[in-house]
Amino acid sequence: MPKIVSRTVISTSDQQPQEERPPLHTYYCICGEFALISDVQVELLPKRQTDLAAILSCERRVFRLHARDGDPLLLRRGESSYEKQFRKYCTRCNLWLAYQVPVQPDNDQPLPYLYIVDGALIGESSTGNGGSNIDSHAHQATTTTVNAV
Ligand SMILES: [Zn+2]
Repeated sequence: MPKIVSRTVISTSDQQPQEERPPLHTYYCICGEFALISDVQVELLPKRQTDLAAILSCERRVFRLHARDGDPLLLRRGESSYEKQFRKYCTRCNLWLAYQVPVQPDNDQPLPYLYIVDGALIGESSTGNGGSNIDSHAHQATTTTVNAV
């Protein structure tokens, strides 16, 4: 009798490695250009008090930012303090997406954090959840009009 090798058995064994991988979240610029892929949802990240930018740790998180580096910028923060920023822009429409700040103001070595500008990215997974600012505002406006009539 010839040996029967079942193909079904081979294909089911392929499913195991997929379960161990954490799900990745993809984010786009408002122009539709791919901007960020990350192992954490940007909506769940802690926010910076100064400008509500989401704080993404370069050491603790796995991510890839698709952006163009701009020239270093000096920004005024409060009465007498300044902050140097290394800004990242969308490669298609030039929208400001994210930035890093240096360890020391006179230094060009950035801190291991990426700050994502509030409302700059649209998450693929946030669709229908009111995740992006534009979507939730538009939805709110429509609801108000319906209620008034
Ligand atoms: Zn863009």
